[in-house]
Amino acid sequence: MMKHTQNKPLPVPQARLEEIAAAYGTPYYLYDEAAIRNNAKTLNGAFANAGFDGFIEHFAVKALPNPFILKVLDEEGIGADCSSLPELLLCERAGVTGEKIMFTSNQTPDADFEKALALGAVINLDDITHIAVLEALGGRKLPEVLSFRYNPGPDRVGNSIIGNPEEAKYGLTRAQLFEAYDIARSKGVKRFGLHTMVASNELNIEYHFDTARMVFTLAAEIHERLGIALEFVNLGGGVGIPYKPEDVAIDWGALASGIRAIYDEILGQTDVSPAVHTEYGRPITGPYGWLVARAIREKHIYRDYIGLDASMADLMRPGLYGAYHHITVPGKEDAPLDSVYDVVGGLCENNDKFAIRRALPRIDVGDLVVIHEGGAHAHAMGFNYNGKLRPQELLLRPDGSVLRIRRRETPDDYFATLDFDALADFS
Ligand SMILES: *Cc1c(COP(=O)(O)O)cnc(C)c1O
Repeated sequence: MMKHTQNKPLPVPQARLEEIAAAYGTPYYLYDEAAIRNNAKTLNGAFANAGFDGFIEHFAVKALPNPFILKVLDEEGIGADCSSLPELLLCERAGVTGEKIMFTSNQTPDADFEKALALGAVINLDDITHIAVLEALGGRKLPEVLSFRYNPGPDRVGNSIIGNPEEAKYGLTRAQLFEAYDIARSKGVKRFGLHTMVASNELNIEYHFDTARMVFTLAAEIHERLGIALEFVNLGGGVGIPYKPEDVAIDWGALASGIRAIYDEILGQTDVSPAVHTEYGRPITGPYGWLVARAIREKHIYRDYIGLDASMADLMRPGLYGAYHHITVPGKEDAPLDSVYDVVGGLCENNDKFAIRRALPRIDVGDLVVIHEGGAHAHAMGFNYNGKLRPQELLLRPDGSVLRIRRRETPDDYFATLDFDALADFS
């Protein structure tokens, strides 16, 4: 019989999880502030040690759009990557403004560009036609600094979450890229960046080295052909995290020093020395968040089911793309894995399953069930289908206290966009 090795540790013991549940109810997301800060320090330290002076990580806000998290990251020297007007407003309210923000969006509405301009964010254009759009919105003037997103097309292979670059709607072609820098310079842009984003949740470090090689080579070519020395290159996001117990995390030190070697090899003999930027989301907060739910029902039909008080509306990844999320049962760390369950939520959708035919310790109604790697693309992807109300977010402070950083939704929140007064007069 398999041993239930709880090799994905929790930030606090079962008793504390129960205490938190007693105070706040379930389900709840719990984020570990100390671990997030530590990870940020390790990342920044790794790039600094590799000799990247102007390194900045712009946290992909979409991964965990909570202003308390943005403030914690800001304090650790991490900026933001935004892709919409509300994300820009959130950063502004968290005190993150100016060039700490990289604005990478696509099919961008005018109002979003205007807010990015007003905040002084670094704007990363997704298409060559957006130069004219931005110029018009900026009072016939482009910002001093501009970046472009490169889509390598058939030159690169993507992965299952993001798809192949050739089929991706993002970015400029190679030919367009050279033209775009030339146009932007002729219109007065002084400082330039280059950006790409070609992978998602990729744990193979070589893939990230290939991206660095591609971007640095392009930076050298842009200098050769146009005489433009890029101020920065942004390697995008896409560094994976170990969702499965057997997965191995990418080590920040190995990543930074590997990128450094490629940088020196390609740009060492040139007059181009762009700063290296990143916009990771998942590896910044993903491993340091947990969805804690309670088993409220069990049923035994053709399979054995454990029903939680959380659903796919709270954590969509397993239902959306069959993603694995590790599940543990606090207090049963040493129990044998002698039960096979589908662990499910209450949506009227049969893909509302956190786990399918998963070997777990016997779960009793009333047990807490913890779903791991809930710190990124988790609460953020929540939705209200079936009238499910979104869960609360709690921050475990470094001193061990708990701060509620988002309350759970109420039925009134769900009704907030409806006009019941108009309904009274409606027939
Ligand atoms: C989603 C996204 C990111 C972050 O991706 P992670 O996989 O969370 O690191 C970064 N940049 C862009 C443009 C994105 O769309």
